[in-house]
Amino acid sequence: MATINIPKNEFLHGRWTADESAKLYGVNDWGKGYVAVNQYGNLAVRPTKRAEHSVDLFEVVQGLRQRGIHTPVLLRFNDILEYRLKEIRKAFDDTMAEQQYGGGYSCVYPIKVNQQRHVCEQMASLAVNLNFGLEAGSKPELIAVLGLSATAGGAGVNGMPIICNGFKDSEFIETVILATKLGRNIIPVVEKFTELELIVKHAKAYGVRPKIGIRVKLSSKGAGRWESSAGVRSKFGLFVSEVIKAVEYLKKHDMLDCLNLLHCHVGSQLYDIRVLKNAVNELSHVYCELVKMGAGLTMLDIGGGMGVDYDGSQSAWHSSINYTVAEYAADVVYRIKSVCDDAKVKHPMILTESGRAMVAYSSILVIDVVGTSRFDPNPDIVRIESDMAAETAAGAGGEVPQPVLDLLDTYKNLTDRNIVEAYHDATQARDEAMSLFSLGYMSLPMRAAAERLFWAIGHKLLEKSAKKGELPAELETLPESLSDNYFCNFSFFQSMPDSWAIDQLFPICPIHRLNEQPTRTGILCDITCDSDGKIDNFVDKRIDKRTLELHEVRELPGDCAGVEPYYLGVFLLGAYQEILGDLHNLLGDTHAVHIALDAAGQWHIEEVIEGDTVEEVLQYVQYDIADMKRAMRMDVEAACKQGRITLPEGKALLKFYDDGLEGYTYLEE
Ligand SMILES: *Cc1c(COP(=O)(O)O)cnc(C)c1O
Repeated sequence: MATINIPKNEFLHGRWTADESAKLYGVNDWGKGYVAVNQYGNLAVRPTKRAEHSVDLFEVVQGLRQRGIHTPVLLRFNDILEYRLKEIRKAFDDTMAEQQYGGGYSCVYPIKVNQQRHVCEQMASLAVNLNFGLEAGSKPELIAVLGLSATAGGAGVNGMPIICNGFKDSEFIETVILATKLGRNIIPVVEKFTELELIVKHAKAYGVRPKIGIRVKLSSKGAGRWESSAGVRSKFGLFVSEVIKAVEYLKKHDMLDCLNLLHCHVGSQLYDIRVLKNAVNELSHVYCELVKMGAGLTMLDIGGGMGVDYDGSQSAWHSSINYTVAEYAADVVYRIKSVCDDAKVKHPMILTESGRAMVAYSSILVIDVVGTSRFDPNPDIVRIESDMAAETAAGAGGEVPQPVLDLLDTYKNLTDRNIVEAYHDATQARDEAMSLFSLGYMSLPMRAAAERLFWAIGHKLLEKSAKKGELPAELETLPESLSDNYFCNFSFFQSMPDSWAIDQLFPICPIHRLNEQPTRTGILCDITCDSDGKIDNFVDKRIDKRTLELHEVRELPGDCAGVEPYYLGVFLLGAYQEILGDLHNLLGDTHAVHIALDAAGQWHIEEVIEGDTVEEVLQYVQYDIADMKRAMRMDVEAACKQGRITLPEGKALLKFYDDGLEGYTYLEE
């Protein structure tokens, strides 16, 4: 029997479906099973990638609102974190079993990726069962990690590997040596030779046989943005000649058995797996040579760099990666195993410091749109013609400037066949109009007419091209320049600083209305007063997507009533963004809420960490709140006395001031 395929769309009389939204925003590509569009047209988070464990994000945001917690809000999913860590564990366990690798695996979490206590505590407690560990890269991080490993339970205290990278002074190393006496499994990694001397000195003084690591400067180059993390010109590590010197030094002090770990770090977000393979290959050879020289090596730490597919394209470019976790694990294990087998050296325990890959998926920011601005496609010809008449009216003595006449002519005579020509004419006339205005030869109403005509022509050109199904190359930038501005209640600098600093892409998608066709395109602007505070590059399979498809934001009835809530989710923010975020415009930390799933698949709030108040950010920049309140009160008092303000007005102002200090730094309607 023949079946007839009726396209779903037609069957539904052209109704837009949630599936179409999923495709449009690439949800299944970058969401990797953690995010999906559900039947209600909302985004759903699936911490275990299974449909029955689904959290409706729109429902969560509404639930939070009912509890007085407003957007912007960062949602953390510890269940995603757990699933992700297990995924990494499993990838290595599986490939090690398959390849008969004898050395074992551990992943240490470099806390610099996100040092928030709640994240690190969760990480430490998950690490105990997974045989994972922690990494510190500075003195404050060491102090945090020592505290974290104390609270991680019995197994954590003595077993959990703690790797110390970064530059270390004498006090740092003394702390590490003494912590060894507590039973911590702590390994300082020598970044420069003098650190080794300090380790030996303090170890002898306290009678400790420490575990020592050495970071090697490899000749293999890093790649991408963090290329300089590796290679012989890198900031960190010992040259191979220094490594040999280190071996001799340790031998002289009868401590060569303490040299347990060899380390490298090739860079972050390694998008091309080949770079890592080369480095691991080189490091493995160094490892085997050192074992033959008598070093007590048992661990090979290949650093961080496991990337995340931010744009879902699975390709070798900045915001993506060309490998999966399983492929990463298989390649690493294979390289190390072959080098060691050839050299007849026992397989080392493999460590990775895969910070980004561990936490990126677990945090999602939800922001609300507070308003939009757009170019009017209707030039209002009646108004323009009356303004023209006024310009030439008796007494005014002027005439309509030629560029305005040209624009009007172009607008009226647009056809399907002169699209490119019309665009050139309009651009030229617009530019001439602007220079006439700057020279003082054009009135404000005529300039307004020129602008409106130009936008209207642009809209018509896009409409006509859309109908033809192709956009002429000359008009390529037009959709972007005519797209809407969506103003969103958040700070780009606080919540996604890498987007500003290094053009990192993060997936962005409305969390509701996904069974409605988006009819607008726009860029996103934050509420800082910085013109850089905008997002005009979006994830897509194409390289350069400059605008995002968005839904019409509906005005609420009544004057100044604002808009109907429209929420966007920004995904994959778990790594680096929280700690790199800054206080531009004094917009502080957002609220962070931990959402968990129970056995029945219901979500609940596990933890609410309130965002900064205005008072807190002001104190951070050394304001004295009590002083400020006193000064305001005295000003109000004086104004009352002089009759410039009434007592109730003064009281109201002071109340706004006090409430403002205690309030959120973001807009709260
Ligand atoms: C930053 C850093 C890491 C973490 O890198 P990711 O790209 O987040 O995996 C690991 N090790 C060292 C030494 C680092 O400096």
